Amino acid sequence: MPLSITRRIHFCAGHRLLGHEGKCAQFHGHSFVAEFTVAPAEPDTLDDLGRIVDFSVLKQLFKGWIDEHWDHGFLLWSEDTAAVEALRSVEPHKLYVMDANPTSENMAAHLFHEICPPLLDPLGLRIVRVTIRESDDTSATVE
Ligand SMILES: [Zn+2]
Repeated sequence: MPLSITRRIHFCAGHRLLGHEGKCAQFHGHSFVAEFTVAPAEPDTLDDLGRIVDFSVLKQLFKGWIDEHWDHGFLLWSEDTAAVEALRSVEPHKLYVMDANPTSENMAAHLFHEICPPLLDPLGLRIVRVTIRESDDTSATVE
């Protein structure tokens, strides 16, 4: 059976969804949870202690990236020019511009396809699944 491990990272961030038909078109924020599931690039490869990798390594990688780029920042779509300009007019600002609306789905896909591979490749690991939780009741997953 394939082995994998999961690390959960909590962070706070703001966003808005351009073109949303309801309240998510407003600037607002969430206490997000990102869950990263990782497997060895070579199936079922464990180290001498029986680990895929120590959980602290995943914390360092993923929390490091999230803290630097998303935590207490604001995520916006590049096409949302008015919002991007508004954020840039405020100092200090922490803005992460995406090439798609910052939905949970697009955030998970961005982490899965763009961010995780270069973080994990050097360690002989691959990303299996990324889940973004906006609340206890809502999440999006990319596998
Ligand atoms: Zn939201």
